[in-house]
Amino acid sequence: MTEVEKYQRQKALATCGGVCEVCGKPLTNSTWQGAHRIANTKTNRAKWGNFVIDHPLNIAIVCSLACNHVCNIGYNQGECLKLVQQIVQKELGNFQASKYFEEKKLQEGRN
Ligand SMILES: [Zn+2]
Repeated sequence: MTEVEKYQRQKALATCGGVCEVCGKPLTNSTWQGAHRIANTKTNRAKWGNFVIDHPLNIAIVCSLACNHVCNIGYNQGECLKLVQQIVQKELGNFQASKYFEEKKLQEGRN
């Protein structure tokens, strides 16, 4: 595991509050796994795109393979669309916030 991967794992663990999203069991750095809500398959990548499949909101932090399976929503078109909507809303919010700060910086530079 690289330092970047270690950091990403620690960050993901901190984001979920240190417990399994499905059963609530406490997680440690070495025991948790990332569960794709829309499964990481060739078909899903073609349908939804890498942006959705690799997005943090598409990945649940869970304790076991059993909890991993519970997270799969790929069979439910409505749930998939809701998740995609959440991802787009989050990214749009981030985009608008960064635009706002860019413009603010430009304005401050003029004064
Ligand atoms: Zn669990």
